[in-house]
Amino acid sequence: MITVQLKPKKEESLLRFHPWVFSGAILRIDGKPTEGELVEVLDSNRNFLALGHFQIGSIAVRVVSFENLKVDDDFWAKKIRNAYVMRQSLGLVAPGFNNTYRLIHGEGDSLPGLIVDVYDDTAVMQAHSIGMHEIRETLARAIVANVPEVKNVFYKSETTLPFKAAIEPEDGYLIGQVNPEIKALENGLQFHVDWLKGQKTGFFVDQRENRSLLEKYSAGKSVLNMFCYTGGFSVYALRGGAKLVHSVDSSAKAIDLTDKNMEISFPNDSRHTSFAEDAFKYLNNLHTLEQQYDLIILDPPAFAKHREALRNALKGYKRLNAKAFEQIKPGGILFTFSCSQVVSKEQFRLAVFSAAAESKRNVRILHQLSQPADHPINIYHPEGEYLKGLVLWVE
Ligand code: SAH
Repeated sequence: MITVQLKPKKEESLLRFHPWVFSGAILRIDGKPTEGELVEVLDSNRNFLALGHFQIGSIAVRVVSFENLKVDDDFWAKKIRNAYVMRQSLGLVAPGFNNTYRLIHGEGDSLPGLIVDVYDDTAVMQAHSIGMHEIRETLARAIVANVPEVKNVFYKSETTLPFKAAIEPEDGYLIGQVNPEIKALENGLQFHVDWLKGQKTGFFVDQRENRSLLEKYSAGKSVLNMFCYTGGFSVYALRGGAKLVHSVDSSAKAIDLTDKNMEISFPNDSRHTSFAEDAFKYLNNLHTLEQQYDLIILDPPAFAKHREALRNALKGYKRLNAKAFEQIKPGGILFTFSCSQVVSKEQFRLAVFSAAAESKRNVRILHQLSQPADHPINIYHPEGEYLKGLVLWVE
């Protein structure tokens, strides 16, 4: 196996089980690894540190094992099995009530570069590293063998793999095939999930518990669901007894999906209306004097995908939240989120704080939200924490 030897002192983060080796930490590579190849990482004295997938880029190795094990089909199967057992004991595998959950959350499941979401009998797999791309068939077999409910595996990595790599990933079924019209079930609510055309794996599984919390607060309320995508929050709000729900997304396809999902659970329900419109435009066109919403959800796409975009992202969060503070009724509740990994909890809170101060309204934090347990954070890899949310009482 090709070895990657680190510079003196550069082994420290690996000794603390952080799963990334940055290219700047490397002293010497013995041999010429191909992208995605399994390599052995050594410290400056050539002691074993870890095994991982090699890749050209700033993260040169993604660690798959800190023990010197044989990395064969069984090795991968065991990791998949572990991940499934955890979801099962969390009560997420609940046929007839919930069949939608994240099975593999990258570093959080000690499988850096791999994301797998399960919808009923189909797993949608996304590789973010060449190493995972190379072993996609093995992983697909391991999923079907270890997750009894799953019969089909759809691979969707055309947009997630580094585009410079000399590979041409094609989206498609690795195992089985199914009509994507099948319905995902989340907390007893059915959703239409289109992994062929949808964003990410087709659904934002990470908001499941936050949607449930919103449901609890929806009775008798008028609700604005900004950046609604599949309408997840809207459907929960209606089940919670909201008197009116407005769903807004700039994408017409998203609005179609929202309407479709609404038809499944609340056909012809006059309480719901959807708007294909830009969020800022929609908010700007509302009359501030007629504050009409008791509950507003702001769940925008990641404003910052890179560190360089951070400053503008924070401004964006501030501007957006300021609009919500302008528009929400006295005694209203604001659910506000950021899914940008580079924006920390503190930075996000500060952006929302600045927006609140601008509005001069009395604001209290009711809940501080995060990602659910099927999106676990590896304790040695704090970068895995990406979703943060605040639930605010606005007087
Ligand atoms: N809340 C959703 C996920 C939101 S994803 C859920 O629970 O599933 C972010 C959504 O924001 C996408 O659907 C995207 O189309 C939409 N979007 C992006 N920019 C927008 C803008 N300027 N105005 C309104 N919607 C926007």
